[in-house]
Amino acid sequence: MPDTKITQLRSPQLQHQILLSRYLRGQQQEREPLPTDRSRKPYTEGIYRLFHTPVPLQLSQRLRPPLMLSTHIRSMASAASSFKYIIVGAGNAAGYAARQFVHHGVKPGELCLIGSEPYFPYERPALSKGVLMNPKARLPGFHTCVGSGGDRQSPEWYTEHGIIAKLGKPVTSVDATAKSVVIDGGETVTATEAVILATGAEPIRLSKTPGHDLKGIHYLRENDDGVALADALQANKDKWVMVVGGGYIGMEVAAAALTVGCKVKLVFPENHLMPRLFTPDIAKHYEKVFKDKGAVFFNNGRLCKAFLGDDQAYVRGAKICQNGQGDIEEDASLIVVGVGARATTALFKGQVDMDQRGGVVTDATLATSVTGVYAIGDIATYPLKMYNNRPERTEHVQNARETAAHAVDAIMTGSNEPYDYLPYFYSRIFNLSWQFFGENVGDNTVIGDFDPKLLSVWVKDGKVHGIFMEGPSADDTANMKNVARDQPALDLEAFRQCKTVEEGWKLLL
Ligand SMILES: Cc1cc2nc3c(=O)[nH]c(=O)nc-3n(C[C@H](O)[C@H](O)[C@H](O)COP(=O)(O)OP(=O)(O)OC[C@H]3O[C@@H](n4cnc5c(N)ncnc54)[C@H](O)[C@@H]3O)c2cc1C
Repeated sequence: MPDTKITQLRSPQLQHQILLSRYLRGQQQEREPLPTDRSRKPYTEGIYRLFHTPVPLQLSQRLRPPLMLSTHIRSMASAASSFKYIIVGAGNAAGYAARQFVHHGVKPGELCLIGSEPYFPYERPALSKGVLMNPKARLPGFHTCVGSGGDRQSPEWYTEHGIIAKLGKPVTSVDATAKSVVIDGGETVTATEAVILATGAEPIRLSKTPGHDLKGIHYLRENDDGVALADALQANKDKWVMVVGGGYIGMEVAAAALTVGCKVKLVFPENHLMPRLFTPDIAKHYEKVFKDKGAVFFNNGRLCKAFLGDDQAYVRGAKICQNGQGDIEEDASLIVVGVGARATTALFKGQVDMDQRGGVVTDATLATSVTGVYAIGDIATYPLKMYNNRPERTEHVQNARETAAHAVDAIMTGSNEPYDYLPYFYSRIFNLSWQFFGENVGDNTVIGDFDPKLLSVWVKDGKVHGIFMEGPSADDTANMKNVARDQPALDLEAFRQCKTVEEGWKLLL
C-alpha cells in the first residue's frame, strides 16, 4: 500500500499495524526508524527486544513467539470497543470466516477477532498430523487456510487487512441481543452488524477418574497441548505411552507415539477402533497396522478405571477394569486421553436457542435465534439439507471451513442460500490416509486389503448412502463425493464378488 494511502487511514493504530507488518516482511527498509505507535503504551520489554535486536532475523524468527505479537496487537487495539463484525473464538472456522470477510471487501477496522488462544487461527488437525511427530511443524507454519490449499494467513495478513485481533484472553460473557461481549471480565466489545460465535469444542476430561490430576496425563485440543505432548513423546521414547480412547484422536496420537519411537498401549471399551464410523471389517485392517508396529490393545469392555501415580505425583500407569473379570494394572510413563469432545457453549446458554447436547441451533444460513448472531464450526447445530434438514452438529474441519464461508456470505451479501453440507471425514496415520463421505447407515461391504487401497460402501434400501476409501486419489475423492450425493442404486451381492477396488468402482460409476 502506498504511504499516502496508509496516512489516509483514520486510525493511527491501523497505520501503525501496516507499517509494522511491512517491517516484518522486510518491505520497510531496515535503516528506517522502527515503526512506533506513540498513541499507545511503550512495547513490553519482550516486544522491544524482538524488534530492536541488532542481529538481522528471518521472518519466522521475528515472529516467535506468537504470544508476543498477539499481545502486541491486542495492546494496540484495546481502545476500539465497537466494530461492524465480531468473531468470538479465533480457531479453525474463524480463520476461514476472516478470509471470506476479506473476499467480500471488509474494510480496515470493521472486523474484530477475539480468541482465548494466543495465536492467530490455525488448522487444528495439524496438531495430531504434524506437530506431534515433526519438530518443524510449528506455528506460523500451519495458519489457516493452508489445510485446504489456500493462503497461509500469517499474523501480518490480519494486520494488512486491518483485522483487529484480540488474542490470549477469553470472552467471559455475552449479551447476544446487544451483540456485545466482555473479554476476561474487562473490555466490552460490541458489534454494530453481526457477531459470529465460533468457540469450537473442548475435550471431555476424565475428571472423576481417581488420579486424574497427576502430572503426565495429556489431552489434545489446542496448540499448546500439541507442543507439550510432542515434547513429552520425545522424552518418553522407548517407554510405554498409554492412549485412552479408540476414536480418531486416539488413533492419530497412538500413530504419532509409535512414529516417534514410543511403545503404545491403546485402551478403549468398544470392540474395535473408530466405532462410530468403522465397521469391524474396516477396523481390522487398521488394527493390524498398529499391532504390526507393536501396539498392545486393551479393548472390548475394558475401561480406564483409575490413573496410578508415583511419589512425585507423576502418572505411572492405570488401573483397567476387564469387563467384569477384575482389574489389572498397566504401566505407562505418559497417558493421553482422547475420549471425545463437547461444544464450548456454556457462555451462550440463555442467550441463543441451543439443543440438548449443547449445540447452538441455527437456520440454514447459520443464523441463530437472535438477529445478527451466527454460529459456525463445531458448535453449530444446523439443518442438514441433503438429509431432509435433520438437525446436525458436525465436529469436522471441512464443516468448520464451509459454515464459516456460508455465514459470512449471508452477513455480507444478504444471501438466503441454504447451507448444503456433504458429510465428510478424513484422517491420516503413518503412510495411510482415508476419507469418508455420506452416512454410515445400512449394510456395509469392504473390498481390497490396503493393496494399496480399500473401498467400502454402506447400502440402504438398495442405494449407496456412505462411501469410505483408504488411499484415494484426487479422482477417487471426486467420485466418492458424487456417489455420496447421488446415492446410486447398487447390487450389493455383485459388489461383494468384486476382487479389486477397481472392479468395485466400475459398479459404482
Ligand atoms: C488434534 C485434532 C485433530 C483433528 N483432526 C481432524 C481431522 O483429521 N479431520 C477433521 O475433519 N477434523 C479434525 N479435527 C476437528 C477439527 O479440528 C474441528 O472440527 C475444527 O477445529 C472446528 O473448528 P472451530 O473453529 O469450530 O473450533 P476450534 O478450531 O476449536 O476453534 C475454537 C476457538 O475458540 C476458542 N474459544 C473457546 N472459548 C472461547 C472464549 N470463551 N473466548 C474466546 N475464545 C474461545 C478456542 O480456544 C479455540 O481457539 C481435529 C481436531 C483436533 C483437536
